[in-house]
Amino acid sequence: MPEFQNILDNIYIEAKKTVDKGEIASYIPQLACVDINNFGIALFDKNGMLHSSGNTQERFSIQSISKVLSLSLAFNLLGEKLWERVGVEPSGDPFNHLSLLEQENGKPRNPLINAGAIVVADILVSHLKNPKEELLQYVRKIANDNSIDYDKDVAKSEKETGFRNYAAAYLIKSYGNLENDVETVLDFYFHQCSLSMSCEQLASTFYVFANRGKCLKQTQHLNLSQIKRINAIMLSCGFYDEAGEFAYEVGLPGKSGVGGGIVAVLPDNFSVATWSPGLNEKGNSKLGLQALEKLTTESGLSIF
Ligand code: GLN
Repeated sequence: MPEFQNILDNIYIEAKKTVDKGEIASYIPQLACVDINNFGIALFDKNGMLHSSGNTQERFSIQSISKVLSLSLAFNLLGEKLWERVGVEPSGDPFNHLSLLEQENGKPRNPLINAGAIVVADILVSHLKNPKEELLQYVRKIANDNSIDYDKDVAKSEKETGFRNYAAAYLIKSYGNLENDVETVLDFYFHQCSLSMSCEQLASTFYVFANRGKCLKQTQHLNLSQIKRINAIMLSCGFYDEAGEFAYEVGLPGKSGVGGGIVAVLPDNFSVATWSPGLNEKGNSKLGLQALEKLTTESGLSIF
């Protein structure tokens, strides 16, 4: 096994020295309160051992990383029927674009762009008695951590400024692809995005995607076929119009969020999470991308 701890420590030193850390997302005002100098990287190896460097215990807003978790829950509930409502093709567009939605009659390209995640949110609202509570319990179960929670201030902040998500939801509704009312669906969506987790908690949660559906306690949460499909969607759609670049530079299925987090997995090998709040122009963490490129290059481990 590669010397993960050495590699992570070097990544941390390099990140601390980097002057251009990107820009913090401010379109959700509450996200702008975070210190741009935060940096953390945490990795669980195939023996379930934790390696970490930097600020890996402080919680931050996981934002779009949550889309993989809501997708997993919806996929468990609906199986392949899910794909009647949302596609599995990369969009090549920024996460909040609406143009394809109109061209394709309200069926979002994939579940990891905002429009797709809003349809998945609608499905969960339709199928669950208490959707916010049940999603939270699902995430806590996979993570083996009952302290994980929503950040109500972030959810409220996004609700006040989430105009593009309202536009997407109404457009989808106009095509008949939203069963519930827009307010209820977006309240759920803003809460899932506000989930607050640390790098260690994220790496632990995403261990299921590296470990054939089993969490760190070896409980089976998803079957092999579901894991194959969700990892494939992360690889092709996890970074919006930068998915090709991420595959090229890093070579792992993964997912980013505008809170500055990135998760990635190497099946049968490791799960990793980084946090650096500064984003590049595509809305992905600038230093997080550099860190993961270094990790796969120096360890010689990627899916390729
Ligand atoms: N909640 C954010 C939004 O809907 C998520 C975007 C992201 O993390 N890329 O805009």
